[in-house]
Amino acid sequence: QPNLLQKPNQQPTPHILNTKKTDKIQKDLQDESLDNLRVLVKKKYLNKKENMKLQKLVESVHKFERDELPYLTHSSKSLPDQRYQRYKLQKEIALLYKDKEVTKSKYEANFHLPDEKGNFGTVTDKLNKKGAEQWELLQLKQAAQNLSTDEIYVKGSDKYEYVFDKETVIDFTPDNENVDPGANVSDDSAGKQDLELPITKMKPQLLEAIDKNQVLIVVGETGSGKTTQLPQYLVLDRNWKVACTQPRRVAATSVAKRVSEEMNVELGQEVGYTIRFDDKSNEQTTVLKYVTDGMLLREFLADSKLLKYDCIMIDEAHERTLSTDVLLGLLKELLKIRPLTGDKGNGDEQLRPLRLIISSATMNASKFSEFFDGARLFNVPGRRFPVDIHYTLQPEANYIQAVLTTIFQIHLSQPVPGDILVFLTGQDEIEYLNSILQDINCKLQDTNCIPMLITPIYGNLPQDQQAEIFKPTPATHRKVVLATNIAETSLTINGIKYVIDPGFVKIKTFIPQTGMSQLSTVPCSKASVDQRAGRAGRVGPGKCFRIFTKWSYEHELELLPQPEISRTNISSVILLLMSLGVKNLLDFPLLDRPSIPQLSKGLENLYLLGGLNSKGQITHLGYIMNDFPCEPNFLKVLYVAADKFGVLEPVLTIVAMLHETQALFSNEKNLDKASMFPNVVSDHMLLLNIYNAWKENNCSKSWCVVNKIQSKTMSRVENIRKQLWRYCKNRSEIMDLNNKHGNNTVGSSPISLESCIIKSFISGFPNNIAIIGRNGQYKQQNNSNISMVLHPTSLISCRMKTAGMKPYKIILYHQLIMTSKEFMRDCTPVYKEEWLKEMVPQFFVS
Ligand code: ADP
Ligand code: MG
Repeated sequence: QPNLLQKPNQQPTPHILNTKKTDKIQKDLQDESLDNLRVLVKKKYLNKKENMKLQKLVESVHKFERDELPYLTHSSKSLPDQRYQRYKLQKEIALLYKDKEVTKSKYEANFHLPDEKGNFGTVTDKLNKKGAEQWELLQLKQAAQNLSTDEIYVKGSDKYEYVFDKETVIDFTPDNENVDPGANVSDDSAGKQDLELPITKMKPQLLEAIDKNQVLIVVGETGSGKTTQLPQYLVLDRNWKVACTQPRRVAATSVAKRVSEEMNVELGQEVGYTIRFDDKSNEQTTVLKYVTDGMLLREFLADSKLLKYDCIMIDEAHERTLSTDVLLGLLKELLKIRPLTGDKGNGDEQLRPLRLIISSATMNASKFSEFFDGARLFNVPGRRFPVDIHYTLQPEANYIQAVLTTIFQIHLSQPVPGDILVFLTGQDEIEYLNSILQDINCKLQDTNCIPMLITPIYGNLPQDQQAEIFKPTPATHRKVVLATNIAETSLTINGIKYVIDPGFVKIKTFIPQTGMSQLSTVPCSKASVDQRAGRAGRVGPGKCFRIFTKWSYEHELELLPQPEISRTNISSVILLLMSLGVKNLLDFPLLDRPSIPQLSKGLENLYLLGGLNSKGQITHLGYIMNDFPCEPNFLKVLYVAADKFGVLEPVLTIVAMLHETQALFSNEKNLDKASMFPNVVSDHMLLLNIYNAWKENNCSKSWCVVNKIQSKTMSRVENIRKQLWRYCKNRSEIMDLNNKHGNNTVGSSPISLESCIIKSFISGFPNNIAIIGRNGQYKQQNNSNISMVLHPTSLISCRMKTAGMKPYKIILYHQLIMTSKEFMRDCTPVYKEEWLKEMVPQFFVS
């Protein structure tokens, strides 16, 4: 067995920076901004001619960044890719020096490499000890390369052996240096433990505690049986009707399916689930319902006392989603109205008691107890084996590449059984890595290497494929699970022995100053990465490989994740609470309060959309918005489309499509979108055209394949569209408005149809308008702080590249994605400036 952690037995290769020792220069450029760095380099070490060349290099670095999404590293929080840019620049500059054959010493001494703790020391400090320069070159090489599998090659001709280019091996901290000791494992010995979940032993005590307490906080290791077992006890032993909330749709559906199997009932009858756009439950028969927290929130609208239920379980409460937080606030009030004993029964009506169980991973459990006036904490002792934690010795410039390498370092050196779980940030990353791994797996077929079973899991994955992750791994295979955060605590996957964790998570952040929401990939909290590491210790001792340094862990990561309520757009929550009759939003009990700017921007946004009037009272439109299963902005778009233009149907199609754009194309990066519909420029119109063409082709799968569209996504779109359509039909008011335009709608010619559609979207998304500035960058009106660029996948950007089309002055985008820049995704041109004032006069003043 080759030792996984063994360093490549290789002499440091000579390299452009590898010269004689130089004097140690004190100045540390680590905290210098990239711009300062450039200036410094220019001033100190380059003559005029070289300066110009450097200038060009810097420009080309910029250009590179524009075209490519950059790779992130754990580093300065404000500029996650700063170090990466630095690598790039260093490389170019190093080459410049090589060309010019000038003395390298000054340059060299001033560029710093991180040491094993992630600290930047001078190159010369580390030169001989660590072979750091070799590492740097490698980083530069990797960062500059496109992601590719080039590093992996087949050696020999008859007997294939898959090996790695030794240079790419990632160095990790050694075994036993950092160990998470796990929790009392000794209590039950092997064999038996697989049959019995930790919670089973605790059942009598647990039920007793539930009987005695109106609120109980159940804390336990992931996999102890909280989600699947506890609700069954309540249903079977207590005869209660139970709702159990989940922050994630996938968790709700997959757990419901599992529990229905365990109880031997048909899913959708006794045991069911409700998630947005998909309800498998039955009013009469369902006694245990798994429900997303957002959907339970909606149930409050129909029945503010939740009379259907005897017990509510708020699961995964530590996730602190916005909906969970609001639910806890609402339940806190509701529990007073439905107390355990009759002695508080004020007056005539005596309501059935309601119980609340909050279940949470160990992080911040005491906060829930405080919130519910010292409610009892019940600990389910878990079993968790020790996990060896490894850190990279240096930060990695490209974590996807590093993950890929690490997978193979494990796969080629560690015995089976022992499955690998990789935490990635989203569907795009997962699918990308999946395709590479599948490729390699194919090539490995005829070798003596164990085949891998690669199983992705993320929110949008079709249900039949979700089941794959739970299937036992055949003894001849190694399972590699590529998961989003969902595998952190929501889903328990058996058989995992190795966890690979780049330490990133994708979150949506609201910027109250501008009213914009953006998606960005940020470093996880310590609590999160610790949870992730724990996933390796369920079946036996495990190993966790963190693609970041120990220094990063200790100094750069936040302690706990930020609750969603403190970083999100709270418009829809304001609307919900107001329509539930909450008079004073500031008095509403919450674990953490939104900031005042957040609150006022939320109110302002609702006023802008017409959901609140100038007195801050909820309007008729506001009530409709609140009832609608999407963001209030969408309802506004639909309402205007119906009322003003009679184009409800096409707009509804686009709204449904916008819910699924992330997974629409099979290979979006290499797609020639421009040629699909030659006359279309707007992504919104593209979506409409795709949907219509799909329908015209009888929703054919082969049509999807030919056009590189994912047929499963289209089916989901169809489902969403049907539900939205049904919703509108039930709200006859919207249909009436639409029908008053009769058949001769304004949208009868393609051009006017497009303008009606764009105008409708302007009215619903006034904050998502970007106007081009002199430097060619887009900015929000009245706000010059944030500049935005078109996402490379947007049709406008494709056309600008291929057809040399000029940029549009005004763009409406649907999503803002923050990587190296603020990228606008799903964009449509706003052809006439007057449209802004016409649609949202209270916002766009000339
Ligand atoms: P907790 O909620 O405490 O994290 P769960 O109730 O989710 O624990 O899991 C308990 C056990 O049930 C675990 O051993 C897990 O592997 C198993 N389990 C849960 N869902 C499934 C499933 N869909 N298929 C197979 N096993 C499952
Ligand atoms: Mg659970």
